[in-house]
Amino acid sequence: MADRAQYDATEQAGIRDAFVRGDAPLCPRCHVAMTQRPIGGGSFGLGYARRREWLICPRCRRSAIFDVRRGTRN
Ligand SMILES: [Zn+2]
Repeated sequence: MADRAQYDATEQAGIRDAFVRGDAPLCPRCHVAMTQRPIGGGSFGLGYARRREWLICPRCRRSAIFDVRRGTRN
């Protein structure tokens, strides 16, 4: 049924954890580095101190989307 493969909640949490720690997130299924894409642009000014991250595995094409609180500046 699920034609569009997704990570389960545990896998997403692991990816997010690695990202927040500053590690390069790996796909929990393929163990390859995931591609990172920032989402957003255009909707700043709403007062959200958050950034939405989109990580995609280049091998299995699963993706994980999560919000990251902006504690630091780049
Ligand atoms: Zn994968």
